[in-house]
Formats: sequence, structure tokens, C-alpha cells
Amino acid sequence: NGSYPNESEAGQTVVIGSSGFIGRFITEACLDSGRPTYILVRSSSNSPSKASTIKFLQDKGAIVIYGSITDQEFMEKVLREYKIEVVISAVGGESILDQLSLIEAIKNVNTVKRFVPSEFGHDIDRAKPVEPGLTMYEQKSKIRRQIEECGIPYSYICCNSIAAWPYHDNTHPADVLPPLDRFQIYGDGAVKAYFVAGSDIGKFTVMSTDDDRTLNKTVHFQPPSNLLNMNEMASLWETKIGRVLPRVTITEQDLLQRAQEMRIPQSVVAAITHDIFINGCQINFSLDKTTDVEICSLYPNTSFRTIAECFDDFAKKISDNEKAVSKPVTASNTDIFVPTAKPEAL
Ligand code: NDP
Repeated sequence: NGSYPNESEAGQTVVIGSSGFIGRFITEACLDSGRPTYILVRSSSNSPSKASTIKFLQDKGAIVIYGSITDQEFMEKVLREYKIEVVISAVGGESILDQLSLIEAIKNVNTVKRFVPSEFGHDIDRAKPVEPGLTMYEQKSKIRRQIEECGIPYSYICCNSIAAWPYHDNTHPADVLPPLDRFQIYGDGAVKAYFVAGSDIGKFTVMSTDDDRTLNKTVHFQPPSNLLNMNEMASLWETKIGRVLPRVTITEQDLLQRAQEMRIPQSVVAAITHDIFINGCQINFSLDKTTDVEICSLYPNTSFRTIAECFDDFAKKISDNEKAVSKPVTASNTDIFVPTAKPEAL
């Protein structure tokens, strides 16, 4: 139902990485929650699609601050001047360690009530993917330990997979249509994973930032209705497009080979895909630490979007595209889907 706990008490929030894939979902949810929302934008960022995202968020009410989290003195000034209470970081995989200077700034200012570092995946204290996924996890782990050592109030968001076809070579699968030619199935396709809509990653992350129950906790997103294996995902997509597609097996060895190629970021995605669909890293542990909380148990009356609903959106985009070009769309896993209703560039 989208209600937010303690809405009237929601504090000034700054989101870092708003022009990025996960950051946009977080920022939209933050604005939807009605809290004052600042977004930190690097002035060096000049891609037209990122500029259009920033404009879209500004039009929705976000207040832009230009700068980088690597400038500690500047960040201290921002946190003080804007009386920031919540900091949510969604910097990309290559910038994880940039957060070390942000942590120093938060520690020195000492008024931030909650820091959410850039994680938005698996519990990095449990999962151990092969390289180069492991290096990224070790960097995220270094950030966790620094936060804890500084005594900064935190929530770690483990939202699992984004609701989309889980391509093993694409960092942002929700930007890409599910297959229309053939399914690539990892191993026997029987290992389950949690697929969470980007809008729900944003919504529940923002809800958890002013909830005492998530203070200094690892927040796991495990909605039972969103737990599917690849064979189930494929069958569901077939019902949406009204036809049956061939299935090709991608073996464990294939994924490991892709990871070993060390092409960044594709090999990172291959390593994590291997951990999810071969090792079962989202489902092979119990929530038995005192620091674990599960999001559905915190908000039992707030539902998650189902994969079926998310696949309906993809199917609608295909049909809209077909109408626009009046010929069938043939998407492969390398076709980047461009939404038809994107705001104009600045
Ligand atoms: P993106 O690469 O899409 O975006 C990164 C954002 O961070 C950009 O807005 C970038 O700004 C900004 N940024 C980077 N460095 C700085 C800095 N020093 N100061 C200020 N802003 C900075 O990131 P993703 O959305 O792919 O990744 C975010 C997190 O989500 C990561 O931890 C990643 O591992 C995780 N993730 C999880 C997925 C899942 O399925 N669960 C899928 C994808 C990511 P600029 O525009 O200037 O470059």
C-alpha cells in the first residue's frame, strides 16, 4: 500500500548515484515518500541519458547538489548545511571505495541518523563468488567494517536480483527485454533466486531508513512470491509472449570461463550469476544472525510487485515498440531497450 512508517518524521535525505540504475529507483521512491530529497551529482557527468534522468528527478522535486563523495571537506559542508539525516549511496561497482571518504565525512559531522552504503545485492559477509565478483564483495565488505568501526548508524540492503531476465553479461538486466529468440538456462535451471522489481528495491529501502527495527541490521529481501528458478522464469515469459522458445544450456564451466576472461564489468556479472544459479547463494543460508532482518516480516501489509507483473510491463513495451515501428522487434541479449517515454535530454 506504499505507506511509510513515521512519515512525518522523515528526515532530509541525500541520495548519491541518482543518475545510475539503482540510484534512480531509490531517488524516485524517496520523492514519492514526500521527504526532502537532495541528490549529489558529479559535474563531470555529461551523458545525455544521465542528464535526462537528473532533469526527470528535478522535475519531481529533487534538489541537485553538484560534487563528488571523494571530496571529504565538501561532503562535510553538505551534511552540515542541509542538515542531512539519511545518506543513501548507490555508487556503481567501480566506485565502492570512493565511499571511504564519505564515511569519514559522516563520522566527523556526527548528525547522520542512517547510512545505507552501496550494496543492493547479496549478503557479502556470506556469499563468496569467484573472481572478479569476489574483489567487488571484498571492497563492499571493507566499507561495512569501516562503518562499524566508526560507529555510524547503518542498514545494509540485500535486495537480491532485480526483476528481469538474468542475463549473465549485462550489468543492468532490467534495461533489456527478456529473450525473444531463445532462453539461455544456467545449469539445470532449477536453482531459485529472488527477483525484486526496481521500484520495490527503492520503496522498501527508503521505508527501512527511518525504521528502528532496521538500525544496524542487514535487511534481506525474500518475498516468497518472487522466488523462481530459470525454468519457471522461462515458462512464465512464454505465457506472456504467447509462444515457446528453444532452451540452450549455459553450463557452470561456461560461466566460470566468462568470469575468468576478466572483462569488467561483464565478468563480474558472470561470476555473480554463477554464484546465484549454480551455488544457490541467495537460498543456501538461514537468517540466523541477530543482525539479520527480513523485509516482508517488517511490512507484512505492503506487497511486492510479482514477476508476472514485471513481465507484463516488458511484454507491453514490446507491443508498443511493434506498433511504433509496425514490424516485430527482435531483441537479443545485446539489444539495449530504450523506453519510449523517456524524458527529453537537458
Ligand atoms: P551505476 O553505474 O548505474 O551508477 C552509479 C552512480 O554513482 C552514477 O550516478 C555515478 O555518477 C555515481 N557515482 C559514482 N562515483 C561517484 C562519486 N565519487 N561521487 C558521486 N557520485 C558517484 O551503478 P549501479 O546502479 O549499477 O550500481 C549501484 C549498486 O547496485 C552497486 O553496489 C551494484 O553492485 C548494485 N547493483 C545491484 C543489482 C541487482 O540486480 N541487485 C544490479 C546492478 C547493480 P556519474 O553519473 O557521475 O558517473
